[in-house]
Amino acid sequence: MTQFNVAQFKQQFPLLGLNVENKSLIYFDNAATSQKPHCVIEAIKQFYETSNANVHRASHYLSSKATTAFEQSRESVKTFINAKSTKEIIWTKGTTESVNLVSHSLGLDRLCADDEIVLSASEHHANIVPWQLVAQKTGAKIRVLPVTASGIIDVTDVDTIINIKTKIVAVAHISNVIGKVNPIEKIIARAKSVSAFTFIDGAQAVAHITVDVQKLGCDFYAFSAHKMYGPTGVGVLFGKQSILESMPPYQSGGEMIKTVSFNRPTTFNTLPFKLESGTANISGVVALAEAISFIKPYIQDSIDYSDYEKQMTHHCYQQLSQLKGVKFIVEGEPDIPVLSFLLEGHHNHDIATLLDSYGIAVRAGHHCAMPLMESLAINGCIRVSLAPYNTIAEIDVLIDTLKRILQKAD
Ligand code: PLP
Repeated sequence: MTQFNVAQFKQQFPLLGLNVENKSLIYFDNAATSQKPHCVIEAIKQFYETSNANVHRASHYLSSKATTAFEQSRESVKTFINAKSTKEIIWTKGTTESVNLVSHSLGLDRLCADDEIVLSASEHHANIVPWQLVAQKTGAKIRVLPVTASGIIDVTDVDTIINIKTKIVAVAHISNVIGKVNPIEKIIARAKSVSAFTFIDGAQAVAHITVDVQKLGCDFYAFSAHKMYGPTGVGVLFGKQSILESMPPYQSGGEMIKTVSFNRPTTFNTLPFKLESGTANISGVVALAEAISFIKPYIQDSIDYSDYEKQMTHHCYQQLSQLKGVKFIVEGEPDIPVLSFLLEGHHNHDIATLLDSYGIAVRAGHHCAMPLMESLAINGCIRVSLAPYNTIAEIDVLIDTLKRILQKAD
């Protein structure tokens, strides 16, 4: 079992030594993007210094070296989420592109007028807008699963909302604003019972909990490397092989073809390449494997790592609860360290800007979840999102700083 030591963990992130406003940076915006450890930064540098070439296309030494590293990363992702085959792992730019790929390839191909797509009220815009565009084009309708007072997807009416008209159900494993694990097993089971496809947005889950796509039984699962200590511009779409085989190409061009002719129809490559066109972010893909090697032992094998996350969440929740005027946007403590709240009498952006002047990075606004804000009848909120390089002492600095801000405003 991997022991967890916060000081050792934090030491591996060079940017966390930064000073902001003459104070040590306190980075509490991890749900937006996590910081990167040395090994990930080094993997990108190493790739360009020792292996840079385009993949798959040439028989020369460097190309085969780059291709080996690129395909080994696919193998790492396969093992990380327990997919059956590397054919089920498609490289994308991020979760957003993974949603666009499935909605536009599968959605445009299969949906008809009066079919229904089921989303939830707490989805990130990335898992709403692509489906809206596809719904507009196909005449399909969008139905919405509400959220409970405690912020998880409400499955009370799941048997009505997901029905024989439902063709696709797309929901987040964990909302980026609420930080609670949604009852996706129940939703997947109901979707399966009406033969609807299931798409899980795992952007906020992979850095915190073990994801096993075979156990979940979902058809698709998507996530972004940059939220799990990897680089920006790389994402993953997992899809069951038989479904990916049956899907038409999404974007087209090089890589994804078998033959191209002006005299015969173009034929397409086998999986996973059929759904990957053009040159990928090769160094980013290679660095994602490094991020997985770095974080997997903690997430999947270290009880004290997840205990530490829970301890930070609990401490932050308790301390914020005791502050005058703090109102959490939903009831109860989150499952992962993502805490969203309002400070009565204060504008969210003012608080975030004031905290920044003390070197504390939080986020304020709608968090790309405007429908959730609407359903909660708020315009936005302040979000504190932690990672295991954060400390209890940093949380205490946040609380003291908020107290100071509140005192000044009195
Ligand atoms: N889904 C969720 C739940 C997210 O939190 C995010 C990003 O914040 C996304 C999707 C979009 O991810 P990306 O911008 O990496 O494509």
